[in-house]
Amino acid sequence: MRTEITERPSLLRSINPATGELIGEFENSSEEKVIEAVKTAREAQKEWGNLKIKERAEWILKLKEKIRKNIEDIADEIAKEKGVSRFEALISDVFPILDLADFYAKNTEKILKREKINIGIWGFLGRESYIEYFPYGVIGIISPWNFPFSIPMGQIIIALMAGNTCVLKPSEFTPKTGVIIGELLKDVGFPKGVVEVVTGDGLTGAYLVKAGVDKIFFTGSTFTGRLIMKAAAENLIPCVMELGGKDPMIVFDDVDIDITANAAIFGSFFNTGQVCASVERLYVHKNIYEEFTQAVIEKTKKLRVGPAHLPYDKDMGAVISEKQLMKIKEHIDDAKEKGAKVIGGEIKDLFVYPTIILDADHSFKVVKEETFGPVLPIIPFETEEEAINLANDSEYGLTSSVWTRDIKRAERVAQKLQYATVMINDNLITHAIPQTPWGGVKKSGIGRTHGKEGLLEMVQIRHVHKNKLGQKVPSPWWYPFTEEKYEFALSLTNLLHSNNLREKIKGLFGVLKTINRVSKQKL
Ligand code: NDP
Repeated sequence: MRTEITERPSLLRSINPATGELIGEFENSSEEKVIEAVKTAREAQKEWGNLKIKERAEWILKLKEKIRKNIEDIADEIAKEKGVSRFEALISDVFPILDLADFYAKNTEKILKREKINIGIWGFLGRESYIEYFPYGVIGIISPWNFPFSIPMGQIIIALMAGNTCVLKPSEFTPKTGVIIGELLKDVGFPKGVVEVVTGDGLTGAYLVKAGVDKIFFTGSTFTGRLIMKAAAENLIPCVMELGGKDPMIVFDDVDIDITANAAIFGSFFNTGQVCASVERLYVHKNIYEEFTQAVIEKTKKLRVGPAHLPYDKDMGAVISEKQLMKIKEHIDDAKEKGAKVIGGEIKDLFVYPTIILDADHSFKVVKEETFGPVLPIIPFETEEEAINLANDSEYGLTSSVWTRDIKRAERVAQKLQYATVMINDNLITHAIPQTPWGGVKKSGIGRTHGKEGLLEMVQIRHVHKNKLGQKVPSPWWYPFTEEKYEFALSLTNLLHSNNLREKIKGLFGVLKTINRVSKQKL
């Protein structure tokens, strides 16, 4: 069934949120356009899926080289569309893709190699089993604006290495970056249709979900993730969901305060706090709470906020939209109304100055809900158990971090944290380490991207079972059912599964007595 369209603009305007400058206008793709893109990608998959993994790796390495050579230009375009500095775009959005391309180009063959299964007793009955992997076909990728290059490009590379083709729907706030992804592939010479890019708003994304793709990789809010899963359920389309977070950072009293305060600020304010894995809750041991909080406040004051003129003259850029700004403001206002101490919190155009919130508790919006902005509540704790309970008191489960010199303690705490990633003395970084799995538990997501696990999400499993005696003797459970076969089955049961030696021996004799006749009985 087609979706009804009412008064939908035919073009999207992409605007630099830091300057208000118009970046360009992009097609708000219709349902027909999306269906056509999926058809083209499906056609292209026939040849792409037939390439050897080595051949696909050659393409990916050519793409990597193209990105490397143009890294500054690409980062510049992303920075403008997101309203951040070029340095920030370069290190977070483009640089990690080079490593990711390398990892999958070099390891896909090994990870996807045919794998023999130990089938125990069945092996003695002349059987063998193995699994092999085959691509889904066409992968639909729906991505957010906060890392408009690294998130979709990473998923595209993994999908392509596994033999799929893709249709990408970038965020309506960053369509140009989506178009750049398509152009890079085209310039490298990838066959037509291997990656189709359909720019558009949320409705374009909804069209993609029902356009007949074989799997969906969605990255975005938990709210939209739910809508997509519901729609995908109509056609039983599997989904990987990379959703929101409310990530805690636990700081014990033996840390280097200077270094750890620095890390807290980076973890919280990087990309203007618009990272799914941003530190959004900071729990500090009461013995160092005052000193640590003071260090965080002092360092925060040094951050340079505003539109960047050089690649690195600002530490924090704009938030992406008015809607995002209002959500952040709502969290700050809620904290003020509930009597918290708010340090910072100024707002100018689309710039939100980094904000520290003290005297907050778990009834505050800024502690419970994803803020997705540069706002950091700091809360004291007394015991290890209390820190764990506070950290786990969330509907999200993306990443968390534990900070201490006592690594045994950190690992003990890590075992109790209900998070898909726990970092010890680090935060934010692991999305950029392609060898490691990325994903969430609870309402932060389903499935994984990156790592071996992310590659396995891009393939289906085929189990091949060989009966090496299949052309020589009929199996003893085939027709006809006979008295000897019944005796054989009971004897075999005792031989294999009795704990009593006498019964086992009796079973063995029963098997030997009947096996000859049983193996000849056929209709
Ligand atoms: P949204 O959920 O608003 O949008 C994500 C994508 O879904 C966009 O391309 C959007 O299009 C599209 N979309 C919107 N509605 C639909 C629909 N009904 N059907 C199909 N597609 C639709 O998220 P944001 O872009 O605002 O990104 C921020 C969120 O992403 C945060 O919650 C953050 O935590 C999460 N995120 C999670 C990550 C992870 O790895 N777990 C990584 C990065 C971000 P449009 O933009 O046009 O509305």
